[in-house]
Amino acid sequence: PPAKDHWYLTLMDWADSIRDLGVRANADTPTDAAMARDFKAEGIGLCRTEHMFFEGDRLTVMREMIFADGNNDRREAIARLLPMQRSDFIELFRIMEGLPVCIRLFDPPLHEFLPSDRRGARELADALDRPLSEVTRRIEWLSEFNPMLGMRGVRLGITFPEIYEMQARAIFEATIEASKSGRAVVPEIMIPLVSAKREVELVKTQIDGVAAAVRNETGADFTYRLGVMVETPRAALRADEIAQHAAFLSFGTNDLTQMTYGLSRDDAGRFMNAYVQQGVFPEDPFHTLDTEGVGELLEIGAARGRKSSPNLTLAVCGEHGGNPESIAFCRAAGFDYVSCSPFRVPVARLAAAQLVAAEIK
Ligand code: PEP
Ligand code: MG
Repeated sequence: PPAKDHWYLTLMDWADSIRDLGVRANADTPTDAAMARDFKAEGIGLCRTEHMFFEGDRLTVMREMIFADGNNDRREAIARLLPMQRSDFIELFRIMEGLPVCIRLFDPPLHEFLPSDRRGARELADALDRPLSEVTRRIEWLSEFNPMLGMRGVRLGITFPEIYEMQARAIFEATIEASKSGRAVVPEIMIPLVSAKREVELVKTQIDGVAAAVRNETGADFTYRLGVMVETPRAALRADEIAQHAAFLSFGTNDLTQMTYGLSRDDAGRFMNAYVQQGVFPEDPFHTLDTEGVGELLEIGAARGRKSSPNLTLAVCGEHGGNPESIAFCRAAGFDYVSCSPFRVPVARLAAAQLVAAEIK
């Protein structure tokens, strides 16, 4: 860390004193959250909860849920996730000391959790203590032709409601625990990959039900803010009705770019250079916000959302949130904050301040 009187800190203080756009960080782990604090993020704008289960024993527990044999097995596997998630959230709330924490409900593209070869399948069969043939059959059944367009996000939460119910319970129990330190925590819960108002209604009913049950069981009171990720073109176009059920909309420009272009974010590298060289794309739209197509959807979504819900909070949490040009675009479109990787937070703070400084000038 720089010395207390270092010019960098003075410069950043000046920047923070004039900027009018919030800057949060995307953080999934205590290490990320601590880094977000070091870089002076004003909260966590996106906690990708499925990333908490990418490695080691945690990956096995997640796979036990995915590979569960019937409803009872699945419920048991989900029950094993509850204490882990509860302690994950307690730790994030502790580190963030009352700053907002926006927790995104599970959004696991299934292929990220399936073994990719036979050796992996054998290891998984051993870990799950199930015959290889059965595990292989299940992998085949779970494999999707287009996993990024498949059983992801809210579709998982509506098909298997116990999963989001478990996460909501973990968030509320952690909220009660963390609020015991004297500082009331108001968690933000975000629904991923929404494309229809009804999806939001269904998940809101589930989560409200869990909140009521936890209040009843514990006698503790708490509030929470429910928000929606806008990352399908339809969600941007229907933002007016979606916003009726949401306190905030956070635009996931990674998926929104993928879906607006119909271009796989994981495969685009194969022809991106040729496309940029030939002038088809001025720049890689996954790195630099396409202010025309994707940008128009941001503007439409922001305007329609605010029209039906004037106090709606608007955010962007895709990779573009840490890019100065996108930051200028989002501020002009009326966004409240950007959320980006912790390392980009100082860049975003400066970029947001420069926009105000240029206006003053
Ligand atoms: C996005 O799609 O922009 C986003 C932030 O979510 P993820 O990258 O996890 O899909
Ligand atoms: Mg996304």
